[in-house]
Amino acid sequence: MLLRIGYGWDSHEFKAGIPLKIGGVGLAHPKGLGGHSDGDVLLHALTDALLGAVAAPDIGSLFPPSDPKWKGADSAVFLREALNRVRTAGYAVVNVDCTLILAAPKIGPHATAIREYVAELLGVPIDCVGLKAKTPEGLNTDNAAIANAVVLLEKKR
Ligand SMILES: [Zn+2]
Repeated sequence: MLLRIGYGWDSHEFKAGIPLKIGGVGLAHPKGLGGHSDGDVLLHALTDALLGAVAAPDIGSLFPPSDPKWKGADSAVFLREALNRVRTAGYAVVNVDCTLILAAPKIGPHATAIREYVAELLGVPIDCVGLKAKTPEGLNTDNAAIANAVVLLEKKR
């Protein structure tokens, strides 16, 4: 196959008094995202999208939340492992596109920093990383952050 597509989804609950990190970028906010590792909802969705594109096991299977080793871990570790699997399977990332759904904080002022960091992690130009943020109208999820991500891979020549 010349092309493959991958899709990832994740959500985390906001918790008071912990740092907020989205797409590897620390954001000033009274609450952070709890749960698995550093709670980086965007990097988790991207990791699952990369893994899904090559039909690898998902993030929860490779890095079980029950394993104390991953408590507070930098989620870039998961993304790098997913990227290794993509490369081992003979593919390269063409582009990624992501949507964040959260009530606060506003992502707009940080979007370029997040795209720059994700592009660097993936080894693609910044114009190959799309990022939109929406507020959760009518979803009753104001205390959660949700991330959707799709990736396109191409066979390496
Ligand atoms: Zn997650």
